[in-house]
Amino acid sequence: MSLFAVYSLFAFAMGACVASFLNVVVWRVPRGESIVSPPSHCPKCGAAIRWWQNLPIVSWLALRGRCSHCHAPISPRYLLVEALGGALYLAAFWHTFAPGAAASLFAIAELVTWWTWIALMIAGSFIDFGHQLLPDFVTVGGMALGLAFAAAETAIFLATTRVVPSGWWECSSRIAMSVVGLLAGLAIMGAIRWLGTKAFGREAMGMGDVLLMGAVGSLFGPVAVVFCLMLSALLGSVAGVGAMLLSKTRLGQFAAIPYGPYICMACLIWMFRGPQAIHWYLSLLKLTP
Ligand SMILES: [Zn+2]
Repeated sequence: MSLFAVYSLFAFAMGACVASFLNVVVWRVPRGESIVSPPSHCPKCGAAIRWWQNLPIVSWLALRGRCSHCHAPISPRYLLVEALGGALYLAAFWHTFAPGAAASLFAIAELVTWWTWIALMIAGSFIDFGHQLLPDFVTVGGMALGLAFAAAETAIFLATTRVVPSGWWECSSRIAMSVVGLLAGLAIMGAIRWLGTKAFGREAMGMGDVLLMGAVGSLFGPVAVVFCLMLSALLGSVAGVGAMLLSKTRLGQFAAIPYGPYICMACLIWMFRGPQAIHWYLSLLKLTP
């Protein structure tokens, strides 16, 4: 097995472990419970879950989705979240490090940022699905992460590159891009929320969605904000119509759907396939040869 394969395996395992912890966060944080105590236990019979029964993915499969003590079913969502975390951490690793390429400080900073943001998005999406709310540690945390990433890249640039006038421009533009993206996300979503509330006479969108788009902007810049706005509206509409058809309710009766998960999905597509998606869209409009 090559070293790159070992690192890849480590990246997947890391994502699965982080997601296993996020399962605890998603369940306990909206209920106001501590994330450290009491230790994991079966919600049905209260039996303590030993460490070997708490390994991500492996344990759920080994126990065939049941508590080893009372045989109550354990939701397949735990397995799904762990597999998703592993897959996304691996994809982020492959995106940042090419096999055989020397690891740079830039790549390490980018990977740490992406892994942190992926964890925040998983927690935020599943909490939003269950409780229609986006906690501040996801949204405000994402904004701070974006600014910190831009500052870190600038610091690495200054420390490793001989400073030339164009270098100074590059440094300041990286931080400026993060700030402009942050403000663009807040302003555009804030305006949509304000207009929607005026038009419908009730809150059209949560403040959490506005802050989440600010985080997307601070991490990936203003172009990503526009991209995620359009794509998340499309994804949300498709999912909303689908859910309506499935539950056979009419438009007016349907309760508000959480919007955060669709912003996160759009953001993931931007992170992994952004340039390709824009190219594909422009070719649809016949704007590229
Ligand atoms: Zn049990």
